[in-house]
Amino acid sequence: MIEVFDVVVARRALARRLLRCPGCGGPLRPWGRARLRKVRDADGVELAIRPDRARCTDCRATHVVLDAALLPRRAYTARVIGRALLGAARGRGHRPIAAELAVSEGTVRSWLRRGRQSAHHLWTIGVQAVVAFDADALPTRERPDTLAYAIEALVAATVAGQNLLGSPAADLWSQITVLTHGQLLAPAPAG
Ligand SMILES: [Zn+2]
Repeated sequence: MIEVFDVVVARRALARRLLRCPGCGGPLRPWGRARLRKVRDADGVELAIRPDRARCTDCRATHVVLDAALLPRRAYTARVIGRALLGAARGRGHRPIAAELAVSEGTVRSWLRRGRQSAHHLWTIGVQAVVAFDADALPTRERPDTLAYAIEALVAATVAGQNLLGSPAADLWSQITVLTHGQLLAPAPAG
């Protein structure tokens, strides 16, 4: 799976064999489309998504080219899930978060559980990225738990990266999705 900011640009790059296999680095070529998915964004907006697929011309592995606004196998966009994790990092429980996002309590609870399972890994990615971009931007405040440290480090990394590169501001959670290779939540079946 490859997370990209702009699926149209990525499709053109794929057609010209400019995307590289995340496994072996070989050139990828177009390989049809993945099945249609329905994904919910903020405020209940439903999106119908049909991602491109790519196949490596060297190792022949296939990869889905996914919009960075989305997480693999999740029925909600990264920013909805990200807001839930941010709420938890601020000490809120899953019930008020679920009510605010209009998502079922069980779904939010499972996101928070997965997020906490990934938290140490996410924190490591965030801190490494901050150090690479701007070590002075490393967060130093005490936080209540690992998830809070992780979210803070990821946000700091995207802000530091943007300051450094002056790149056009993509959605915060899309940037975090690219930074974490779509692993904001520990890998899980559909939900
Ligand atoms: Zn390959």
